[in-house]
Parts: sequence; structure tokens; C-alpha cells
Amino acid sequence: MTYQLYHGSCHCQAVKYEAEFDMAAGSNRCNCSLCSKARAWFLFVRGDKFKLLAGDDMLSTYQWVPPGRTEPGLTYRFCSRCGIRLYATGELAQLGGRFYAIHLPTVDDVDREELVRAPLNFFDSAHDRPDRSPADTRLM
Ligand SMILES: [Zn+2]
Repeated sequence: MTYQLYHGSCHCQAVKYEAEFDMAAGSNRCNCSLCSKARAWFLFVRGDKFKLLAGDDMLSTYQWVPPGRTEPGLTYRFCSRCGIRLYATGELAQLGGRFYAIHLPTVDDVDREELVRAPLNFFDSAHDRPDRSPADTRLM
């Protein structure tokens, strides 16, 4: 793992963050009902590798309960002024506890070629199988 420090922001620049991650580890697309509408494209960052630099007071929150669950899985944060989703937070033991799922298009200083080279993973959350890729990923 080669961690590098990146910077991200929303469209109106009210919210800014920095995060360390290994771009070579790849990024993710998901087909759950929310990710489909938001065209989510994200990567996971450990809680201790993320720092909100500005705009905490501008962030709004959204949660939803996936079918078959009793409580929300993730907490989504987006800018209340420009509407851009910046990240979601959750807890997962394999990611060392608290994690951030950063919306990749909000990262400002990632190299385009580095992004193209990195693997793209697909999660079949629409069928409650995020551990596998859906049969059809063409529009994800
Ligand atoms: Zn904004």
C-alpha cells in the first residue's frame, strides 16, 4: 500500500477535506437504490486518514434503511449549498472501524492517468451481495 495525501472539495468550495489513500487499491461502483440515483463512485478511507478542513457547518446528512435491515448502514454527507455529496461514513471491522467512503469526483488533485489505471470494483448491493460484481455492469 502506497498512501498519498489528496485534497477534495464540493462544487461551491464551502466544504474541503484531505484524505490519505492508495489509489492503486481501486475505486468502487455500487448498484443499490441510492448509489444508482447518485451515480456513486467512491473509495474507502480509514477514519484516521481523513480530515475535514472546512465546511462542517455546511454539511447536511442523509440516512436510509436498506430493505431487509433494521437500521441505516451509512451516513451520507453533502453540501447544503451546492448539493454535492462528499462522503459517507460507517463502521466496518475490516477497515479498522470507522471509515469514510469518499465520493471520488470530489477529489481535486488525483492524477487522471492514475485514476484510469486503478481497478474499478462493482458491488451488487441491489441483490444484497456487495461481495460480488453484478452480472451486468455496463451502466454502473
Ligand atoms: Zn458546496
